[in-house]
Amino acid sequence: MLAAYKALVDRGGRTPVDTMMEEAGTTDILETRRYILSRRIERAKNVRVRVLERRGLKCEGCGLEPIEHYRYEGPIKNIPLDVHHTKPIRELSEGETRRYQIPEDFLVLCPTCHRMIHKQKDEADIDLLKRSVSFFHSKKIPRQF
Ligand SMILES: [Zn+2]
Ligand SMILES: [Zn+2]
Repeated sequence: MLAAYKALVDRGGRTPVDTMMEEAGTTDILETRRYILSRRIERAKNVRVRVLERRGLKCEGCGLEPIEHYRYEGPIKNIPLDVHHTKPIRELSEGETRRYQIPEDFLVLCPTCHRMIHKQKDEADIDLLKRSVSFFHSKKIPRQF
């Protein structure tokens, strides 16, 4: 499988792997593969909504609550929050499957915190992410209507 990825990359031009590498902020093929795996788990059918329902509709990094802070009123499945997979898949070998628990192995993050946690050396370190956040969501911004 890795050889297949490498062949794609070596062929040149834009490939999904190029895009994944760019998004993951790495040129390392193993890092990229891990990134692809974790994104796949995060997007698995039903996982997202089940995690949101169990962990709450609030970013665990910065505290953003779309319902409170944006007056979001749509269905849970469309709420602008992501789920992030925290179980290390570092040592997972090709084709190996691993059980993961809902909601214990996931975090609810807003899109910005989600991108930031993927840039950390340890993508599971929520405390590091929280320490990095230095703003509060204001309830005092005047509404225009
Ligand atoms: Zn956030
Ligand atoms: Zn993630």
